[in-house]
Amino acid sequence: MATIMAPCPKCGKDELLAVYAYECGVKHVECNGCWYLGPGEGSIRQAIKSHNERCAADHLAQHDATNGE
Ligand SMILES: [Zn+2]
Repeated sequence: MATIMAPCPKCGKDELLAVYAYECGVKHVECNGCWYLGPGEGSIRQAIKSHNERCAADHLAQHDATNGE
């Protein structure tokens, strides 16, 4: 699979990332180092894509100190 995953937005590592599929059919990119959980999607490819997009958004959000959920 040629899709490249962005490094974990929490711990910055990429060797601990993996895609897990749940019984309901949802796939998530997860980090085995810090338990980061990526967006749930219906396909592995889309899960990685959403994960990458979230990482890009988080990177931008780091400049905004008021960012909080
Ligand atoms: Zn991590």
